[in-house]
Amino acid sequence: MSELNLILLGPPGAGKGTQAERLREDFGLLHISTGDILRAEVAEETELGRKAKRYMDAGDLVPDEVIIEMITQRIGGGEARDGFLLDGFPRNEHQADALEQALAALDRRLTAVLSIDVPDEEVVRRLAGRRVCVKNPNHIYHVEFDPPKHDGVCDQDGSRLVQREDDREETIRRRLEVYHSQTEPLIAHYDHAGLLRRVDGQRDAAEVHAHVRATVATLRLEENL
Ligand SMILES: [Zn+2]
Repeated sequence: MSELNLILLGPPGAGKGTQAERLREDFGLLHISTGDILRAEVAEETELGRKAKRYMDAGDLVPDEVIIEMITQRIGGGEARDGFLLDGFPRNEHQADALEQALAALDRRLTAVLSIDVPDEEVVRRLAGRRVCVKNPNHIYHVEFDPPKHDGVCDQDGSRLVQREDDREETIRRRLEVYHSQTEPLIAHYDHAGLLRRVDGQRDAAEVHAHVRATVATLRLEENL
């Protein structure tokens, strides 16, 4: 069977991680998440992990070169032989160029780029409403979509609920600005290359999943023709 080499694009809060996880289950695709790989390399203290940690400890962003090397290693590895699903990469045109070169060197190509579209105001509504338990970070609520029984109190253990720094509106708007200026140009780039498939990310996760799944199933059929 031919491989499916996919990229998942979309703003923060679009549900890329959730969709990627479901696609992994549906199609057995290797899910390559920049965040997960970064954490794993740091935890395993690989050479790249140690390099990345120096920047993280200093409060700096991990440079493109380090991220690119981590991702291209995964793509070139045996696990990605039957295809992959990139989530959180590429984030800018420099990374996209590096990805194209890495794939060309492996004599492979992208199959498609799935863009999960969600308007800014919806992203803010989803993320800024999140509240997390101070005792157990897995106890997550949403003031609008999944409120606790009592305001600001965890249903499961009575601990206080807080808004994480990452979920503050100013932080979210800054991330959206970066997304619009650096990542969104990739959508036009991939559209021009005939690779883009758009998905309306405003619907609920199950509907988005149904659309994404149907799109990928069609791609697989086309690849096997
Ligand atoms: Zn709790």
